[in-house]
Amino acid sequence: MMNIKHKKILNDRLNSGMENKEILIYLQPKFYAETRELAGAEALVRWNRNGRIVMPNVFIPLLEKYELITILDKYVLENICDLINKWSYKGYKIIPISVNESRQNLYNKNHINELIALVDKYNISPSMIELEMTETTVVHNVELAKEAERNVHKLGFVVSMDDFGTGYSSFSMLKNINIDVLKMDKSFFEDILESKRGRIIIESIIDMAHKLNIKVVAEGIENNEQLDYLTKIKCDMIQGYFFEKPISITEFENKYLKA
Ligand code: C2E
Ligand code: MG
Ligand code: MG
Repeated sequence: MMNIKHKKILNDRLNSGMENKEILIYLQPKFYAETRELAGAEALVRWNRNGRIVMPNVFIPLLEKYELITILDKYVLENICDLINKWSYKGYKIIPISVNESRQNLYNKNHINELIALVDKYNISPSMIELEMTETTVVHNVELAKEAERNVHKLGFVVSMDDFGTGYSSFSMLKNINIDVLKMDKSFFEDILESKRGRIIIESIIDMAHKLNIKVVAEGIENNEQLDYLTKIKCDMIQGYFFEKPISITEFENKYLKA
């Protein structure tokens, strides 16, 4: 049961966290496997509570429970639109940025209008924003997810499926929903050297995705063996600690965008 008093407390904390810039947006770069060039980045939130950085796995489940997560997602999206707009004024290289879209956005009838309003306000191309829906979000709401996908595609946003392979009906989801990017969960790549069966599965998924005209991102890549293997089998993009952890926007700009 949802406790209304608790919801109010959390809502107040979230709002003051956003106002006081305690909610931080970090960026983790993605790279093309073949060329090792920068391909984009993912926005990932952290909460700075009195100097202690709290990770999203601690507060996102709470925000979901109290149905406040859409407020955070909107905040992240707005800040990312603002950031891309600033980058273009500064003459930085413009790269697509992905944001995580919680399942509750699907129930928000106004969500699509909010998306339009934001890209208008910051005058950016929707093709620079990639909306990540998790596989579980899609599984639990196939019809709503399909409708959302069609609507955001019409506007020109990029749609990706996050954490692919962690749910129960991964393949039927691919049949149902027209995505641009598949983010394969890191669990696929943990034992690639030992598991021939695992490699056969990875290679088949990448092959299938390419036949469906879907790009593949491998998540959670931590070592050179994984990278070499994924390059060899034509995985499109790589995200993981081997290249970079999620870092602050300033650090990201200094390291990747300034000439
Ligand atoms: P995700 O969207 O699947 O994001 C990838 C997670 O994997 C991130 O964890 C990232 O730091 C981590 N990661 C990246 N490379 C590696 C690696 O090489 N090794 C390992 N072990 N981990 C790696 P993070 O930042 O803790 O985020 C966790 C989850 O929280 C995200 O998973 C996403 O589902 C959620 N999340 C983060 N920001 C937001 C947000 O703004 N809105 C919503 N709705 N969810 C968010
Ligand atoms: Mg994600
Ligand atoms: Mg993921």
